[in-house]
Amino acid sequence: MLTVAKCSATCARPSLYIPLAAPWPDVIMTAPKPVNCRYYYADFHRGRESEECRLIKRNRDSRPWHRSLCNSCPVPTILLNTNCQEIALEATVVKRFGLLERVTVYAICARHLIELDDPLACPRCAAEAEH
Ligand code: SF4
Ligand SMILES: [Zn+2]
Repeated sequence: MLTVAKCSATCARPSLYIPLAAPWPDVIMTAPKPVNCRYYYADFHRGRESEECRLIKRNRDSRPWHRSLCNSCPVPTILLNTNCQEIALEATVVKRFGLLERVTVYAICARHLIELDDPLACPRCAAEAEH
């Protein structure tokens, strides 16, 4: 919280005073940064603390999701940059080198019913776009 105060008793010039322990509501202090992904869901309203990935949640074969997986997840970049008009994704949390967890993605084009080796580039949607 910013407070306007005079800098001294003899000075009329206002200065900004930033208290060290700002009385912000707890929700602002504790809520993690939101993830810019259509599958990310969070509810911190009225003391609730619920977060989930609604893509990984659908995959019963996946290891459980946790928030830090979003930091290296390829899904937001794929959704932003793919040329596929109807991409469908399945995401799985796997362990790499038996230690680090990461998200792997399996993609198909739901319009042409083909698997996409590269989720960013659908050859059939690209061919359609040229006509
Ligand atoms: S893990 Fe990936 S798909 Fe799931 S919410 Fe995070 S960024 Fe989105
Ligand atoms: Zn496609």
